[in-house]
Amino acid sequence: MTTQPSDEDVLIQTARAERGEQRSGRSMGASLGVAIAFGAVGAALIFGPRVINMILPGPLRLLGWLGGPVLFLLGIVAFAITGLFLLNALASSPMASWGTTMPGNCPRCGQPKLRSDTVPGPASGSPADGPRGVVTLCENCDHAAARVTRPSGAPPA
Ligand SMILES: [Zn+2]
Repeated sequence: MTTQPSDEDVLIQTARAERGEQRSGRSMGASLGVAIAFGAVGAALIFGPRVINMILPGPLRLLGWLGGPVLFLLGIVAFAITGLFLLNALASSPMASWGTTMPGNCPRCGQPKLRSDTVPGPASGSPADGPRGVVTLCENCDHAAARVTRPSGAPPA
């Protein structure tokens, strides 16, 4: 084969790489790290001003009270982001399977072990002008199929 890999091939390769990443637990570790960072920021924003208010002398305390509600809201936002990344970490844990179950049997091995997912996933660092699509992989054999939803080189929607 001297031709460039087709978009389908690129998608299938990406899907296999993402499935491998997930099984290694690396993508879960990355999500957990981000979740912990946002959780720490949220805690600092919410509880920090209360501690500062106790330390600050009289006139400056007013500043702390004014900034308090804003920081509190920012802290809530940080906690919300923490929750999202925790969910993402759970979804990408090595215990969870890649993709979602597909109805029907594998055309190659006949087992009902087809799973499909959109590629590239949200956590991948693929270039924005790369192809996107839905890849179906068999958990039992090497069967792989790809449906391109946006060819490579297309301007981002
Ligand atoms: Zn199969």
